[in-house]
Amino acid sequence: MTVTPQTNTTLEGIAEALMGCTSLAICGHVSPDGDCIGSQLALAHALRKLGKRVTCLLAKDEPIDPNLAFLPGADKLVPASSFDGYVDCLVAVDVPTPERLGGADVLRRRAPLTVTVDHHAVPEAMSRLSYTDPDAASTTTLIWRLVEQLGVDYDADIATCAYTGLMTDTGRFQYQNADAAAFALASQMVAQGADPGAISREVYQNRRAASVYLEALAISHLELLDGGCVALSWLSADDFATCGADRADAEPLIDVLRSISGVRVACMLRQQGDVVRGSLRAKDDTDVAAIAREFGGGGHRAAAGLTLEVPLPEAVDQLRARLVRDVGPACEGAGA
Ligand code: 5GP
Ligand code: MN
Repeated sequence: MTVTPQTNTTLEGIAEALMGCTSLAICGHVSPDGDCIGSQLALAHALRKLGKRVTCLLAKDEPIDPNLAFLPGADKLVPASSFDGYVDCLVAVDVPTPERLGGADVLRRRAPLTVTVDHHAVPEAMSRLSYTDPDAASTTTLIWRLVEQLGVDYDADIATCAYTGLMTDTGRFQYQNADAAAFALASQMVAQGADPGAISREVYQNRRAASVYLEALAISHLELLDGGCVALSWLSADDFATCGADRADAEPLIDVLRSISGVRVACMLRQQGDVVRGSLRAKDDTDVAAIAREFGGGGHRAAAGLTLEVPLPEAVDQLRARLVRDVGPACEGAGA
């Protein structure tokens, strides 16, 4: 693991603090993914086995992606904005900054104890107790280790949630973060009851037809820049309406862009209400989180996201210019 500036305790220290609590809320980030929801639910299952009162919160009052609804406990997620109960502790998982906590940040400011378990590197801790390991392939691998520190027996529910986060954050064990530790932990999770085939079917072979129609439009807008080393595409509000598609239906599309031979950085932009959401992925060592940060976003070196408050054509122009300026020359330099 890497010791980061925002780490100020150990998982053992966090386990000890959690054991002293009676009521806890667990929150993740806005636009929650498999690692976020998987981390929240895995930890909630474990704490409930210890007799704790636990509420899992959604940063925004928006439904979760339907392909994560199979996760045990997903039906009990509560929007942070409608939660007004008292908690001894707010645990933030898979989320490094107050802005990404959405409606749960109010609770972070008033909870007697705040805890972060995460794998996103940021300069500052937002919680009193903070454990961040950017080398961890998923936050669920840290939760998995925390569950052991809590002295809770693993079970199929905990394993299913943990495995789902690990599978999704490693892009089905294909990204750079799918290292030996990730496989070793996946093996433990499977031994404890996670069913890789069933989980994979729920998450990846469960697309609405609308998502596939949307893919056709995304492909029709595809731009291959810099001799094909940058793939850029976009979807407008009209595109979503034409396909009867919603936000979640666009999630798989960044992977279509990155699957193209020769592409080193992929960028997918889509209009969501008044803003444009962007996803960036790198197949080489380009730091796309640095690009995302320039636009107020963030994430990991190889997978990052951003939100732009400009009209879609402007967002496309801005990202195109940025990618051509910085990724293009690196491609030429590498003889790609
Ligand atoms: P995605 O493209 O799937 O939305 O996000 C990829 C990664 O970047 C995830 O780890 C996510 O947490 C992170 N991320 C996405 N959008 C943002 C953002 O606006 N700000 C920050 N700090 N991280 C983001
Ligand atoms: Mn994650």
